[in-house]
Amino acid sequence: MDIQPKASHFIDGEYVEDTAGEALDVIYPATGEVVAKLHSATPAIIEKAMVAAEKAQKIWAAMEPKERGRILRKAADIMRERNHDLSVLETYDTGKPYQETSIADATSGADALEYYGGLAAAVTGEYVPLDNDTFAYTVRQPLGICVGLGAWNYPTQIACWKSAPALACGNAMVFKPSETTPLCALKVAEILIEAGAPKGVMNVVQGFGNVGAALTTDPRVAKVSLTGSAPTGKKVYAAAAAQMKHVTMELGGKSPLIIFDDADIESAISGAINGNFYSSGQVCSNCTRVFVQKGIKDKFLSRMKERLESGVIIGDPMNEETNFGPMVSENQLNIAMSYVEIGKEEGATLSHGGKQLDGNGFFMEPTVFSDVKDEMRIAKEEIFGPVMSVLDFDTEEEVLERANATELGLAAGVYTSDINRAHRVVKAFEAGTCYINTYNLAPVEAPFGGVKDSGIGRENSKEALNHYSEVKTVYVAMGATEAAF
Ligand code: NDP
Repeated sequence: MDIQPKASHFIDGEYVEDTAGEALDVIYPATGEVVAKLHSATPAIIEKAMVAAEKAQKIWAAMEPKERGRILRKAADIMRERNHDLSVLETYDTGKPYQETSIADATSGADALEYYGGLAAAVTGEYVPLDNDTFAYTVRQPLGICVGLGAWNYPTQIACWKSAPALACGNAMVFKPSETTPLCALKVAEILIEAGAPKGVMNVVQGFGNVGAALTTDPRVAKVSLTGSAPTGKKVYAAAAAQMKHVTMELGGKSPLIIFDDADIESAISGAINGNFYSSGQVCSNCTRVFVQKGIKDKFLSRMKERLESGVIIGDPMNEETNFGPMVSENQLNIAMSYVEIGKEEGATLSHGGKQLDGNGFFMEPTVFSDVKDEMRIAKEEIFGPVMSVLDFDTEEEVLERANATELGLAAGVYTSDINRAHRVVKAFEAGTCYINTYNLAPVEAPFGGVKDSGIGRENSKEALNHYSEVKTVYVAMGATEAAF
């Protein structure tokens, strides 16, 4: 399979190159080898994408919504048919094991295209009765050109989560992937055009943060949707606000998982494993602060250790047995490993892992710290790697206060067999996405997003349609118009 794309960018229905752009090498995280060579977008490439999107958006918006939906659903079918190749590409882009990518990336992208394909014709307004001869109705209109800026952990999924609702509403998309994982979004664009979307409806331009900034401030752009870190989110939000653009911000987290002593402990450990070690811990909604009630702390830690020792298979991501891959980049590996040192220096107990693996790949062990205190940096800062902090607690009241004591609010979870307590705790959580006796689900049918510094707006579900369209109100009078004079 050819990892090197035909060219760096996909604009107006075709691959486009401009070698004047800064070099952008794609490194396979499992070996450290360069597997593809691309170029960052020049101003000429950005201009080409904008012109193509502007032209195509008018054609796309004028199409019958049902027809737009059919095209999105066809794209979903093509993605499913090509799941194997797309999953291999996702593995090269990110290093995530094929065992994960074959069920979580192109498949969830296809779910989004299918779901919004089904809803495209359901983007409707309402009838508002007023006086006898007057009424109003509303219509939901597309915004125009939407810019998508992606993080590196789910390159296919992020491209689809943004483009599917945007396109369902009649917008065009210019998407910039993270420079760390530039490959997969190109395929999403290629498939959408192959499925029948007019050329220029979905464009991909590569680049570093400066390209994202140029797209964000282009006056032709109506909306910016970012998946990224909270500091970048604040910059992009501010730049978009200067031109009163719409935004969706899906940002970072430092989410709590609370495990009460009446919980099914094996299930709770599964939740903590999924919420810390899937995708080598590079998931924004991860429950990196695991609060365990004191009575079950020792059992929790010993079973966690046993399960990690017997269950984790680290190695070649293409091997279908492998269930724990490398970090996405050397930089991200160094960040995560530096937090292992910080945890040790701060006096937390290293209960499991903590080592980098020999070799050229960016591998480290899944790591568990116990005896973590709220004020430690490992408990406060987003690490975005496989480093779990276990904290203990006595009472519900105490743990809720501690769980909410963060500027971030993406997700939160609770394990308990007391149904009343479960709902009470979830009601008190300051988080956009909450879990009871499970963790880290993000299906397209339900809204996903954060509160506080974790972002604004929601992706997925019918909610996302409201963020990619705006309401026009129309008043209609059936009688004569009266005036005071
Ligand atoms: P960044 O915030 O560094 O970057 C996100 C995207 O924005 C990248 O495409 C980046 O380009 C681009 N960008 C950077 N600076 C600017 C700018 N000034 N103007 C416009 N665009 C810019 O995030 P990472 O890629 O490092 O991803 C990791 C972060 O993403 C984590 O903090 C994580 O929590 C968060 N995340 C949130 C999710 C959510 O749904 N809430 C999901 C997944 C991740 P480039 O990379 O080329 O610099």
